[in-house]
Amino acid sequence: MSEDILFRKIILKEIPADIIFQDDRVTAFRDINPQAPTHILIVPNKLIPTVEDITDEDEAVLGHLFIVAKKVAEIEGISSMGYRLIVNCGDHGHQEVYHLHMHLVGGRSLGRILL
Ligand code: AMP
Repeated sequence: MSEDILFRKIILKEIPADIIFQDDRVTAFRDINPQAPTHILIVPNKLIPTVEDITDEDEAVLGHLFIVAKKVAEIEGISSMGYRLIVNCGDHGHQEVYHLHMHLVGGRSLGRILL
């Protein structure tokens, strides 16, 4: 199974994942290989492969990703400590899953570079 289909199946709850938040536009679930105490992926329910595939009509859902990131940080109890939001794009960005997603990483001091 290609990894973009894998995220689709997580969104549709056809395969298990630790889903923290879901609404009609976005799904947030724990990364299977966490790089910090909190590592959650926030994914548009609509398939947008990479940042390079974004169109004007995606503006609202991408803004919503940030709103959900803030909400999830609150759920995780890390809002006041701070955290990092990361979106990898393409080959040089080391993107592994071609279903656009935002990493929410925190729960410890992260240093300057991660992922
Ligand atoms: P990226 O390199 O930005 O494409 O990140 C892809 C992320 O997806 C990695 O951090 C993986 O650990 C994560 N991942 C891959 N498969 C799963 C899965 N089944 N459930 C949760 N996270 C996953």
